[in-house]
Amino acid sequence: MAKAKPEPLVLKPAVSGNTKTDRGESSVKTNRYKVVIRCRRCGERFILRGRMTKEGKVETGFRQCLCDNDSDFDIRIEEL
Ligand SMILES: [Zn+2]
Repeated sequence: MAKAKPEPLVLKPAVSGNTKTDRGESSVKTNRYKVVIRCRRCGERFILRGRMTKEGKVETGFRQCLCDNDSDFDIRIEEL
């Protein structure tokens, strides 16, 4: 049987207290993130750009490392 495609990694950025739902202020909203993913198995580093989804998660489209690792990562998220 064919191996199922791994789900894209979905990340939750650390929110610094401000979780207000203010629909009006779209000018201040940061919607782009730099995501640094380091594989804990082989040490490979990936630098990606992520977008915040409606659910408050950062979506990068990253699926897995070259070494087939798809869950064991050090992840850092920075606002752009
Ligand atoms: Zn790896």
